[in-house]
Amino acid sequence: MKQIYSLFNYQNPFLNFNKIPIVKMIKYNLFFRQPQLHYVDIELVFKTDKNKEIELYMPTWTPGSYMIREYSKNITQLHIYNKEQHLIPYTKTSKNTWSFYADSGSTYYIRYQVYCNEISVRTNHVDGEHALLNGAATFITIKGYENERHDIYIKPHSEWDKISSALLSTGNKWERHAVNYDELVDSPIEIGNQEVIHFEVKNVSHELAIVGRSNIPTEKVVADLKLIIEKELLLIAQPHPCKRYVFILIHTDQIYGGLEHKNSSVNMVDRWNYTTREKYLQVISLLAHEYFHLWNVKHFRPVELGPFNYHEENYTRQLWSVEGVNSYYDDYFVYWAGVCSRKEYLDIVAKNINTTINTAGDKLQSLTESSFDAWIKYYHKNENSNNTQVNYYVKGAAVSTALNLLILDKTQGEKSLDDVIRALYSLYLQRPERGYTEEEFLSICEEVGSCHLKDFFKLHIYGTTPIDYAYYLSLAGLKLIENKANPAFYLGWKIENKAGRFILTQIENESDSAKAGLNTFDEILSIDGYRMESDWEKFLSKKKEKDRVKIIVSRYGIVKNFELTLTHNQKKSHSIEEIATPDERQLKIRNCWLKKG
Ligand SMILES: [Zn+2]
Repeated sequence: MKQIYSLFNYQNPFLNFNKIPIVKMIKYNLFFRQPQLHYVDIELVFKTDKNKEIELYMPTWTPGSYMIREYSKNITQLHIYNKEQHLIPYTKTSKNTWSFYADSGSTYYIRYQVYCNEISVRTNHVDGEHALLNGAATFITIKGYENERHDIYIKPHSEWDKISSALLSTGNKWERHAVNYDELVDSPIEIGNQEVIHFEVKNVSHELAIVGRSNIPTEKVVADLKLIIEKELLLIAQPHPCKRYVFILIHTDQIYGGLEHKNSSVNMVDRWNYTTREKYLQVISLLAHEYFHLWNVKHFRPVELGPFNYHEENYTRQLWSVEGVNSYYDDYFVYWAGVCSRKEYLDIVAKNINTTINTAGDKLQSLTESSFDAWIKYYHKNENSNNTQVNYYVKGAAVSTALNLLILDKTQGEKSLDDVIRALYSLYLQRPERGYTEEEFLSICEEVGSCHLKDFFKLHIYGTTPIDYAYYLSLAGLKLIENKANPAFYLGWKIENKAGRFILTQIENESDSAKAGLNTFDEILSIDGYRMESDWEKFLSKKKEKDRVKIIVSRYGIVKNFELTLTHNQKKSHSIEEIATPDERQLKIRNCWLKKG
């Protein structure tokens, strides 16, 4: 047993720590000694109430991102000390658990480092500029202590001045607390020198933490966000569930995504994502999406999603009703708030339909299957995924549009999917401890729509029968118009330039390239006798339909020749137009959907 803290090659950061008396059971001290090496040093302090075997564990995944991420792989230098700073032996019992024997009434210090060098909304990133910490990826906890208050104290890097987190402060801005472990996991922390904008909507204080250099038009983003939040609240028609809400918006390079939390969200976009109108709307729609999760999943939720088992997959067939329904509403709120025009909104609806019907996997995998297998498929995409999988976000949004129009039609504009949302939230308010089952979701839709929807669900949500989108849009006096065929030849491949080598990264099963015998991972050397270049389409500019083209590839180092027959794009693309003379019923439904106050 050693009394000297010898974990690190430098002086123990915790010995000089300005320690705060342990009032509650569990407390973490976080120390950023070497952010440039991507480490956070953590000390977990807790007191036992009796002699017992203590089990420590770390989640393997984080709610909202349905993939086992093995966060404990980033833990190093875990050591346990007693009050006298004696090392206590422990056993690593599984990939994410540790155990040791503790005496009654004693205080223990579990010290470990976390390596944080994965920049994404569900992992940790620490460098000289900032720290983004996600609870599941950071905090080891103690089995049986999950419902205790978890306090944290942060000693920031000397050049960092700001902290953004939904965790409530205890008075000192660097001290925060969570009412339990779930709240800690659900409250990401951004530390650095971010720009922080405060604003209020309906007496609820909001914070926008802008991280990283970008060309963000801050005032416009804040103004648009306020309008969108007002509409989300208008739809919910209940008091705001938060006292305070924090948007963490991180600018980086070619990353786009968000992760919802109960009082905050982490959003990551490319730093130049504001250069075009379309890209700007994507960012606003992302923020609207994560915010609406406040209700959809963070309050009313599929029964399988909470309480969470942090050790393994939490399977549900209902991710489509979380992410698909939310993907319908994110763009809808952007439109309803007046941030985009009706034409822009209908273009987005058409894009969701086009993407869905042109994905080969749409015919093979249902929304419920896609949801259930998210853990092994959606989050583990490979070169063949588009041939076999459907995206429960995009198709979920398209199906939600159809379901909304169906309910509007059956109730002659009296009810809509909005009423389903309100009913789900009411059910939650009456019964917060349990989420909804698949049957309950369906029966709420049927009750709101005063109609049978079993067939709709069976065919289009539990099954893969194609949806007649034109029919559902016609209920609102809208026409799904097939656009002119794209004159370009369609080879059904995706090519990526990897350090000057042109690699086929995807091939559609029914495409001309597949028929010619090309494979994913082939490196294309030439097309029609021309050495491969990034703007290879020009090689085909004088070709006609049915012309044959020689393609030379390298397959695992062996050069191979193929002949491909050119055909025009068979993919269908549509746009949505308003019928100039809708009948009374169509006009009523159209107005209920698109002309709300
Ligand atoms: Zn989402």
